[in-house]
Amino acid sequence: MEKKTFVTKEQLDMIIKEYPTPFHLYDEKGLRENVKSLQEAFAWNPGYKEYFAVKANPNPFLIRILKECGCGCDCSSYTELMLSEAVGAVGRDIMFSSNATPAEEYKLAERLGAIINLDDITHIDFLERTIGYIPETISCRYNPGGLFKISNDIMDNPGDAKYGMTTEQLFEAFKTLKAKGAKEFGIHAFLASNTVTNEYYPMLAKVLFEMAVKLQKETGAHISFINLSGGIGIPYKPEQEPNDIKAIGAGVKKVYEEVLVPAGMGDVAIYTELGRFVTGPYGCLVTTAIHEKHTHKEYIGCDACAVNLMRPAMYGAYHHITVMGKENEPCSHMYDVTGSLCENNDKFAIDRMLPKIQIGDVLVIHDTGAHGFSMGYNYNGKLRSAEILLKEDKTAQLIRRAEEPKDYFATFDCFDIGKKLVEQSRHL
Ligand SMILES: *Cc1c(COP(=O)(O)O)cnc(C)c1O
Repeated sequence: MEKKTFVTKEQLDMIIKEYPTPFHLYDEKGLRENVKSLQEAFAWNPGYKEYFAVKANPNPFLIRILKECGCGCDCSSYTELMLSEAVGAVGRDIMFSSNATPAEEYKLAERLGAIINLDDITHIDFLERTIGYIPETISCRYNPGGLFKISNDIMDNPGDAKYGMTTEQLFEAFKTLKAKGAKEFGIHAFLASNTVTNEYYPMLAKVLFEMAVKLQKETGAHISFINLSGGIGIPYKPEQEPNDIKAIGAGVKKVYEEVLVPAGMGDVAIYTELGRFVTGPYGCLVTTAIHEKHTHKEYIGCDACAVNLMRPAMYGAYHHITVMGKENEPCSHMYDVTGSLCENNDKFAIDRMLPKIQIGDVLVIHDTGAHGFSMGYNYNGKLRSAEILLKEDKTAQLIRRAEEPKDYFATFDCFDIGKKLVEQSRHL
């Protein structure tokens, strides 16, 4: 499918007049519509709820929009819990799916009334020691091990993943938790990431539903929800067929009716913790070409770099690039599109065929709405960019200012040398 930007050149030129590149831009309309179609796909399940994976995009303005749409928050750290509380998502609006969890995080999750999803059997004791009791509602994360395959395709390798409990541990955990006073149980598993196939969720659902029936039979625990977690992907590449969320919802419904309903478990709520699928396509990184270089290869140097979007450097991930205003020009030039880090993996694209780029051209790097800004860092002393929301009425709202040197030096401010740097930054 042809990949189009959600913003026009004219809109973008206006925004750039006010806010210099680089910045991440988000599409409120697209985001709201997408959440609506997700909820419609699972509307057959009365208890359905999406807990947005906050790590994918921890901007409180976006999380507030998602909260308005009826989403909860899937958190896995102290500050993610704080963000969730700040937008009014507390109690059963929070799924706390963490691992190697520090005690302070369990304490905050408990204070906020979050549903706690235990990553390991040893966390039963750890949680009880930390907060003083076992909550009545509790969830356990499952990892069946082995390879997760669809037909003959290996989707992912759960046997090599640090998350979740084994089958035996899951049974034991349920029995222990029940003995310690838990009354409502959930199970959770995340077995494959960024799947671009309608079959992943139904297959995962089958594994979890069959496990739920066995668990309920053998332990007597009442299972009230099953959390299919994240993992529904997006088509980063133009040739990829996007997931059909309607078909995915219908596929899960079919397995629900085949496995849970006959076992008398037709009251189980389905939860999801999607991150990438929810916000991924509704964000882009906007950057300006500021240099061209002709050596052994042709390079375009941008004002954004890997600190603004790490996925290409970290995973070799493909992100589509549109040269604004040149959408209909032939892709006649092969470029490496780079940032300015002193790291040769700081390339948004390698050997990419694009229209001829001139200095000053604005490039839109697609699909940065999830795991984009949020994976940012400060290598080379580079600063994080602004984030801007393109609202439904097409006006632009700054939803995070760009970092300044004073932010970079802020954690030195208790030292003399740091005070000097912060003071100098103040005068910039
Ligand atoms: C990262 C993560 C998600 C979201 O994953 P996506 O691939 O963005 O859908 C959901 N749940 C947990 C526990 C995660 O760690």
